[in-house]
Amino acid sequence: MPKGIFNVPKAINEPVKSYAPGTKEREQVLATFKELYNTTVDVPNYIGAEEIRTGNTKTINPPFDHKKVVGTYHEANKEHIEKAIAAALAARQKWADMAWEHRASIFLKAADLLAGPYRAKINAATMIGQAKTVHQAEIDSACEFIDFLRFNAEYMQQIYAEQPVSSEGIWNRLEHRPLEGFIYAITPFNFTAIAGNLPAAPALMGNVVVWKPSASQTYSANVIMEVFKLAGLPAGVINMVHGDPVMITDTVLASPDFAGIHYTGSTHVFNDIWAKIGQNVHRYKTYPRIVGETGGKDFVVAHPSAIPAAVATGLTRGAFEYQGQKCSAASRAYIAKSIWPAVKEHLVNDIKSFKIGSPEDPSNFISAVIHEASFDKLAKYIDAAKAAPDAEIIAGGTYDKSKGWFIDPTVIVTTNPQYDTLSTELFGPVLTIFVYEDDQWLETLKLVDETSPYALTGAVFSQDRYAIEEAAKALENAAGNFYINDKPTGAVVGQQPFGGARSSGTNDKAGSILNLLRWVSPRTIKETLVPPTDYRYPFLG
Ligand code: NAD
Repeated sequence: MPKGIFNVPKAINEPVKSYAPGTKEREQVLATFKELYNTTVDVPNYIGAEEIRTGNTKTINPPFDHKKVVGTYHEANKEHIEKAIAAALAARQKWADMAWEHRASIFLKAADLLAGPYRAKINAATMIGQAKTVHQAEIDSACEFIDFLRFNAEYMQQIYAEQPVSSEGIWNRLEHRPLEGFIYAITPFNFTAIAGNLPAAPALMGNVVVWKPSASQTYSANVIMEVFKLAGLPAGVINMVHGDPVMITDTVLASPDFAGIHYTGSTHVFNDIWAKIGQNVHRYKTYPRIVGETGGKDFVVAHPSAIPAAVATGLTRGAFEYQGQKCSAASRAYIAKSIWPAVKEHLVNDIKSFKIGSPEDPSNFISAVIHEASFDKLAKYIDAAKAAPDAEIIAGGTYDKSKGWFIDPTVIVTTNPQYDTLSTELFGPVLTIFVYEDDQWLETLKLVDETSPYALTGAVFSQDRYAIEEAAKALENAAGNFYINDKPTGAVVGQQPFGGARSSGTNDKAGSILNLLRWVSPRTIKETLVPPTDYRYPFLG
């Protein structure tokens, strides 16, 4: 037990390195990329203290060079998942009892390993396995992940420090117990930081975790486990398993000790999981916490007063960085007719200047989409736009899967405000634009609010303060992260807590105190210092 009221080191955002030509970090990351690319890794399941290789393997192939094999991972079966649950529960008591400053130290050490000796490796692994450019890898797998770990330690301290008032003769206390059971973390392919944070945040608060990463992120997930182990995370606290997501999820949700889910991924998967939890509710020893951050159809709305170059830059960066595979990516835009010619010219010229290819060449701005299923889906929507009478493709519209899953950044302009790709999440480099009449500003805000079921991010561009105020009000529930004269991507931990409502999730704001509160169950303790010894109150006298 602690014998001091400790303060964790003040969290500050990890500075983003430039990787400009001639820098040391560029040299290191490219050397590590080469080294990893020319070897193979054999990724196990981490269950308790064991690394389990089942022999039931799948290959890991870079999306930009899909015939190349950089490793294999081993799929678990039902018995392995039951074993992972048992390993988590076996580790639970000791971990929950560990003094909080030691839990904090483990994750702070992991942050320092990622900031220093593991920075090149986690970034190179994310470049290879998930096809991120070096800049996209740096802001995700290095900086955002480090920020999650450091800020969460600070938030944990704030949670513990917040105490109730006490009246005379009484001492009231509040303690934040880990949940009774284990947490299930399911993570998406698109952010290494999210993959690490979803198991780490509940574990930091004293919980034990079964973690199922995306099959398309196993390569960098393995580096995450390497870092956690090196940082001193005890065996069984985070158990990483691979395999059939339905089998794993059904096995986990059938356990009476299931105490919560920390999910990020698509909306339909989360809806199915929520329904299964409902069906199983009678089994559980405690009501499980359900935290899920899901899909988006993120908007940019540009008022006639907006600066065209700022709108176009918000779109090129917001819609196409990381091939549009960010939950926050701008994927629908509403542009006033009077500024559209200038926005269009700037946008199309910018897209023409993009270089596309392997992240190993840092001059490439765009790489491949994550897998064949995504490629085929995007190609289908592009072909449909080509054939649609109410849509026109003004940039891109081409694709090629001979070497990698390459979709050229594509802009669809539609005259139909209900066109399919203004409401369906495509999750790729395809932006749909609707040009509205200048005098239809308020009607357009209503359209933006009502067109898609999601409410994750959105941006307004305007130089007119009344228009900004109108947009902020009309779109109050259309986005959990709302941007003024900025692209709708790039939220920073501690600065713009991230998450949305409606079909975009439970809005528990990863990277904030609100998220950590979901992983604890408070216990109130009232102590009477000198207890009464006579039941008679004075009024009875
Ligand atoms: P996905 O839904 O395909 O997969 C997410 C996770 O769920 C993976 O681990 C996958 O294996 C698992 N899964 C798939 N089917 C399952 C099933 N039937 N039962 C249980 N688990 C299952 O998503 P993805 O392609 O990895 O990621 C993209 C999606 O994630 C997009 O919809 C994006 O908007 C969303 N996302 C949201 C946020 C956010 O903060 N709101 C952040 C990142 C990604």
